[in-house]
Amino acid sequence: MTVIDKVKSAFTSDSPETTTTSTQSNATPSHTEEKNVPSHPKESNAKSVPETAVLSDKAVFDQNKVTVIFVLGGPGAGKGTQCEKLVNDYKFKHLSAGDLLREERNRPGSTYGELITEYIREGKIVPQEVTIKLLENAMSSTLASPPNTTNEWLNGKGRFLIDGFPRKMDQALKFDESVVKSSFVLFFSTNENILLERLLERGKTSGRDDDNKESIVKRFRTFVETSMPVVDYYRKLGKVVEIDSSPPIDEVYEKVKIEIDQRLNSSSTQTSNTTQSTSTTNASNDAAPILAPAI
Ligand code: AMP
Repeated sequence: MTVIDKVKSAFTSDSPETTTTSTQSNATPSHTEEKNVPSHPKESNAKSVPETAVLSDKAVFDQNKVTVIFVLGGPGAGKGTQCEKLVNDYKFKHLSAGDLLREERNRPGSTYGELITEYIREGKIVPQEVTIKLLENAMSSTLASPPNTTNEWLNGKGRFLIDGFPRKMDQALKFDESVVKSSFVLFFSTNENILLERLLERGKTSGRDDDNKESIVKRFRTFVETSMPVVDYYRKLGKVVEIDSSPPIDEVYEKVKIEIDQRLNSSSTQTSNTTQSTSTTNASNDAAPILAPAI
C-alpha cells in the first residue's frame, strides 16, 4: 500500500481513487501548470501585494546584513515547530510562506485571494510573483520595525527563517536574484508514514482547508515532484543541512541547535565564506555569509 493509498483510506473507507503519484524527483508534474498572475488584476483597496507583483531584477537586501535560512521538508515534517524554537533562542524572524499566503487570501480586497485559495486547495505552488512579493514585503516591514533590539537586528541587520520556501526551482532562483541570496537550507527529512500520521493528527484541530484527504494527496505529490528537486539543487551546491525529524521534537531540536551553533560560531570567527563540514552538509564557497556578523 503506497502512502497515498494510506492517506485516502485514513480519511474514508471509500475505495482508492485513481490518483497516482511518482517517486521520481525529476518527473514532470502534470498538475503544476500555473495560472499566470493577472497582468491587469482588478482594483484592490488594501495592498499587501502590489497589483502587478513585479519583482526586482537585482537583490533588494544586502546579503552582508540580511541573513536568510530556508526551511524545507514535506508537509508535517515539523518545520514550523522547530522554527518557533529557533526564534526564541536565536532571535530569528520566522516567515512562513504558507501563513503569508493564507493571510493574503483572507485580506479583504486582495487581488489574489481567489487564486491563492484555489492553489492551496489543490496543493499546488502559488505563482512565484505573489509568494516572493509577500516575503519581500514581510522582510521589509520586519527590518523597518525589528522584532527586538539585540545585535542581530541593529543597523539594518536581520536574520530570517523562511519556512516552506522555495518549493519550486523558479522561486529559488528568483528569490536569490531579486530579494537576497540565501545562506543555506535546513531540510527536515522523515518518512512518509510519519508525515501522514502527523498531518492526520493536526487535521483534527487545524481548521486548515488543505488538511483533508484530497489536498494531502496532492501536497505529498507536489512535494516529491516539485519541491524535492529544489532540495537536490541546493544539495549539489553544498548548502543543505539535513536533519532527521522523525524523533521527538526536543531531540530533533538538539540536533538543529548543534548545526546552527556551528554556523553562528563560524560566522563570528571567519571573515570569508564558511566551509563547515558536518555529517550531512558542507557549505559552499558560493553561499552568502552564514549569518550577518554581530556588532
Ligand atoms: P504550508 O502552510 O507550508 O503547508 O503550505 C500550504 C499551501 O500553501 C501549499 O500547499 C501551497 O499551495 C501554498 N504554498 C506554501 N508555500 C508556498 C510557496 N513557497 N510557493 C507557492 N505556494 C506555496
